[in-house]
Amino acid sequence: MSRVIVIGAGVMGLAAAYQALLDGCEVDVFEASPVPGGMAAHFDFGGLSIERFYHFVCRSDHPTFALMSELGIADKLRWVETSMGFFHQGRLHRWGDPISLLKLPGISLIGKLRYGFFVFLCLQRNHWPALEHKSARKWITRYCGKEIYDRFWHPLLDFKYYEYADNISAAWIWTRIRRVGKSRKNIMQEELGYIDGGSKTLVDALLGEIEQRGGRLHLNAPVERVAIENDQVTGVNALAKRFPADAVISTVPIPLIAGMVPDLPPQWKARYSAIHSIGVICVIFKLKRSVSPHFWVNISEAGIEIPGIIEFSNLRNVGDNSILYVPYYMPVTNAKFSLPDDRLREEAFSCLQQINPALTRDDIMDVRVGRLKHGQPVCEPGFAAKIPPIQTPIHGLQVADTCFYYPEDRGIAESVQMGRNMARSVEST
Ligand SMILES: Cc1cc2nc3c(=O)[nH]c(=O)nc-3n(C[C@H](O)[C@H](O)[C@H](O)COP(=O)(O)OP(=O)(O)OC[C@H]3O[C@@H](n4cnc5c(N)ncnc54)[C@H](O)[C@@H]3O)c2cc1C
Repeated sequence: MSRVIVIGAGVMGLAAAYQALLDGCEVDVFEASPVPGGMAAHFDFGGLSIERFYHFVCRSDHPTFALMSELGIADKLRWVETSMGFFHQGRLHRWGDPISLLKLPGISLIGKLRYGFFVFLCLQRNHWPALEHKSARKWITRYCGKEIYDRFWHPLLDFKYYEYADNISAAWIWTRIRRVGKSRKNIMQEELGYIDGGSKTLVDALLGEIEQRGGRLHLNAPVERVAIENDQVTGVNALAKRFPADAVISTVPIPLIAGMVPDLPPQWKARYSAIHSIGVICVIFKLKRSVSPHFWVNISEAGIEIPGIIEFSNLRNVGDNSILYVPYYMPVTNAKFSLPDDRLREEAFSCLQQINPALTRDDIMDVRVGRLKHGQPVCEPGFAAKIPPIQTPIHGLQVADTCFYYPEDRGIAESVQMGRNMARSVEST
C-alpha cells in the first residue's frame, strides 16, 4: 500500500486525499491553517457560517457535481435566477443580456453591436490555442473597439492586475466569459448556483469521507520541507518531525514551492518562481438593507478603485440581512495591500454608498476583512508554456496549484478534478 502525503487541505488537496484513499493508499494531509478549506474556507460571521471569499457555482462545474453525488450531497446544490448590474457615470444599470446592452446610455450603437457580437463569438468558441499568444487588451480592442475596451474592460483589468493589466492572456479571459456566459436559463436569464450551507458543506463531506476511510488530517501543520533522497521523495518535515511517504502531492500556491522543496534542481525552481500571483482582500459587510437587486455589479466609475461588488445574499438566502463582498485584488507589493482594515472598510463602504445613496452607517451590522497573499495567478499570453509538468523530476513528487488548469480560471470544480487526477497518477508500491 502506498503511503501518500498531501500538502494543503484546500479542495484540491482534499479531493486528492479522497481519491488516494479510494485507490487503496494510506493518506496523511498537512494543512498550515487552523481550518481546512483553503480559499473555500468559512468563518463565523456573527453566527452565520460563510465563505471568507464569495463562491458561486456554474452550470459547467461538472467535477463538483460528480463529487457531490459520490459524497451523497447532490441534493445540496441550489440554482437561482440571478442578475448583473453595471455602475457607471453615477448610475446603476442592468447588465448581462442583449437588451441591457442596447439600453446602456453613453455608448455608441456600433460599439454595442460589436460588443454583443464579441460575447456571442466567445460563447460559440470551443478552442483556445488561437488566443494563447494574444493579450486580452489587444484581442478585445480588435473585436470591440477602443471605446468598449476603455469603458468596460480597462477598469476591470486595471483594478485587478495593476502593472500586469495590459499583459493578461486572451485565452484566460475567454474561459471566464464563457463560464459565466453559459450559465444561463436562456439568453435573457443568468442562472448561478450555490451549495446549501456554502463550500463548507463540500469540505466537510470530503473530510468525513477521508476520516471514515482512515485518512488523517493534521491542522496547524505547515510542511517545512519535502524530504528527498536519490531523486526519490521520502516524506515531509512538519510539526518538528519527519513523516515518511512513498508519494507526495503538493497543492500549495506555486510561489511557495522553491522554499518548501529546496532540493529541486535550480532550473525547476526558477520555473516555479517565474509564475506570479496577485493578492486579494475581501471586505465583507453584513447590512440591514440590500445595496442592489443584483448578485454581481461591475463598476467603471472615476474615483472607485474596485472592479465590482458581490451581493452574495442575492444568490444564497442568508436570512433577513444582506451579505456583501467588496474585493480588492492587487499585487501584494502595492502599498494598498498593507492598508489597515479600518481604512479599507471606510473606502469599501463609501463605494457602496455611491451605488446606493440611501445606505447609512446605521445599516452596518458587522464588517470583516479577509486577506489572501496568493489569491489569483497572473496568466500572461503564452502562459501554457510556462506551466511545469505536474510530475517533478523527483520520483513520487507531484506539484500543482490553481494555475495548472489554465486557461480555466481558479475554481472549485477545476481544483477537484486536478486533485483527483494527481491521486490517480500515484504509482502503487
Ligand atoms: C476571492 C475568491 C473568489 C472565488 N470565487 C470562486 C467561485 O465563485 N467559484 C469557484 O468555483 N471558485 C472560486 N474561487 C476559487 C476557489 O476557491 C479555488 O479554486 C479553490 O478553492 C482552490 O483550492 P486549492 O486546494 O487548489 O487551493 P487552496 O485553497 O489555495 O489550498 C491550498 C492550501 O495549502 C495550504 N498551505 C500553504 N502552504 C502550506 C504548507 N507549507 N503546508 C501545508 N499547507 C499549506 C493553504 O493554507 C491552503 O489551505 C475563488 C477564490 C477566491 C480567492
